[in-house]
Amino acid sequence: MSRRLRVRQSQTVLPFGVGAVLDVQGESFVAAGIGDWPRQRQNVESPRLAARLGVTGFYAAPPTLNDRYDRPDAPGAPYIRFPTWLFCGSCRRMVRWRIANEKAGTPPRCPACSPVRQLVPMRFVQICAGGHLGDVDWWFWAHSRRTPTERQTCTSREQLRFRVSERAAGLEALSVECTAKGCDGASQDLLDILGTHGMRCSGRNPWQRVGEAVPCVQPVQIVQRTAGNLYYPVVHSALDIPETDTSATTDQSLATRVRDNDLWIPLCRASQGPRSGTYRDIIKEETGADDALLDALLAEETGSVPTPADQVAAPATRPDLSREEWEAFTSPAPPVTRDFAIRDTTLGLAHENAEPWSGLHRRIGRIVLADRLREVRALSGFSRVSPDAAFVPADTARRLKWLPAVEVFGEGLFLTLDKVQLNGWEGNDHVRRRVAGMRDDLHGSFQQDRLASLTGNELSPRFILLHTLAHLLIRQLAFESGYTTASLRERVYARPEHDQYGILVYTAAGDAEGTLGGLVQQGEPPRLAETLLRTIEAAAWCSADPLCAEHTGQGFGNLNRAACHACALLPETSCETGNTLLDRVLVVGGEHVPGYFESVISAARVAAAATLE
Ligand SMILES: [Zn+2]
Ligand SMILES: [Zn+2]
Ligand SMILES: [Zn+2]
Ligand SMILES: [Zn+2]
Ligand SMILES: [Zn+2]
Repeated sequence: MSRRLRVRQSQTVLPFGVGAVLDVQGESFVAAGIGDWPRQRQNVESPRLAARLGVTGFYAAPPTLNDRYDRPDAPGAPYIRFPTWLFCGSCRRMVRWRIANEKAGTPPRCPACSPVRQLVPMRFVQICAGGHLGDVDWWFWAHSRRTPTERQTCTSREQLRFRVSERAAGLEALSVECTAKGCDGASQDLLDILGTHGMRCSGRNPWQRVGEAVPCVQPVQIVQRTAGNLYYPVVHSALDIPETDTSATTDQSLATRVRDNDLWIPLCRASQGPRSGTYRDIIKEETGADDALLDALLAEETGSVPTPADQVAAPATRPDLSREEWEAFTSPAPPVTRDFAIRDTTLGLAHENAEPWSGLHRRIGRIVLADRLREVRALSGFSRVSPDAAFVPADTARRLKWLPAVEVFGEGLFLTLDKVQLNGWEGNDHVRRRVAGMRDDLHGSFQQDRLASLTGNELSPRFILLHTLAHLLIRQLAFESGYTTASLRERVYARPEHDQYGILVYTAAGDAEGTLGGLVQQGEPPRLAETLLRTIEAAAWCSADPLCAEHTGQGFGNLNRAACHACALLPETSCETGNTLLDRVLVVGGEHVPGYFESVISAARVAAAATLE
């Protein structure tokens, strides 16, 4: 039976980017560092993002039908088997799998059973706050109740059985037993396996060679390999907006000319050799490139020029990419390119005198439809144990100056609030006091640094308002138009210091063909006005009320107020903040706090009652 193990190209950044552990058809793998990526990788252009992240560029793994799980020469992103401890569900033998054991196209098989049985990966692995990941030392676990002297009598570290007992339930029923000579069946059940146990960290990730390990004194935690704290990727996303500054595009076309030069490959092969000087001079003369650019391109191509540690893209700090995007969307004459096609529209309410429509009209500013958007998502690295733990770059050897990325195409709906109405509402004391409470919780949370790149210098009422509106609108659009919430994403432009007050809801799952125009259709008049009204009407009520509405801190780090799974939360991939900093009260009012759209809802209720009479 042939098996086809496949990760889609778009998944090689998220969710299965460098360092992630994934299950495919009963087998388990970890995505290797980009140092192991194939040379056939595809260039992904995004000069703006590259400049902000301080890297030379981006590459996507070539798409393939069968990824590099067990064939080191195949194209595609490299994944290696992990954990390496597997067991047989029939004879319960545990097997330490090695790369030499891999047979292309076949899953690991039990060496002892007949008929042959497929081996199953162990469920537990170990991680540390240094960003390392490794197999649990199952031999040590089996002998953990033995004294060091008793352990010394054991003759093998690999003769283990993964027993299951019928006399107990859950983890207590499982145990690892040593069947080596001289050991007399040392055994330990898994009841207390989760947590810290004084085991030593290997100081590396599974794809790193033993020589790349660093001394690590972080306490080791044993977790399930699917645990949420195993992997926190750091992903940056930029929309492809028309370049206002021409220098970046010039650099990029210069780089292309260098790579296309006949002597480029010879130079890469002989970068330190006697002829390299001659090659360099000719390339410089023929393309107009300077030494600095050649050095950067060579480093990127060969990884041969070590990057000083201080030049590695600053990890945890995410650059603010909102400014140019906000300017592109709100410019009076929006620039248009092949991958950024936008046009102005309206709610269609300009001549509407009746409430609630005129009230809605007063509160909304501009509506811009994006018929085509291109988004580049790049992975700079990850952490383990917690989002603020040590950052591990996508190139664990810290030599490469490019990052793994993917490009996706889609469409979007951009809207702003009315600036005058917003300023008036933001000045209200009750609004300010409510947001001050959320700001305190944010200061007290380890999320602050990460979220500051989205919220701006200080958490403002408009951020929570617009962010919550984006969530509510995505949920309503999904409900009305058949999109799944997971296929829609948000971008919140709400930095008071840059005078921002809008949101973008977009789809970006498509390939170069883009998506089908369904979302933009939802933005045409009169549909969007109707959708918005239904959105805020629905937001006035949650099935978890009154509990949800009165909450003084729910969700991750208590960073939400009136917002829960039943009313405002989105799938992880749709939200920029990890479903934090949400509050329906600021949208619809309540708890003595006026909501930005509160009077629209009241007017809608009055109008509805009038129609009934
Ligand atoms: Zn077996
Ligand atoms: Zn033993
Ligand atoms: Zn470690
Ligand atoms: Zn709720
Ligand atoms: Zn969100």
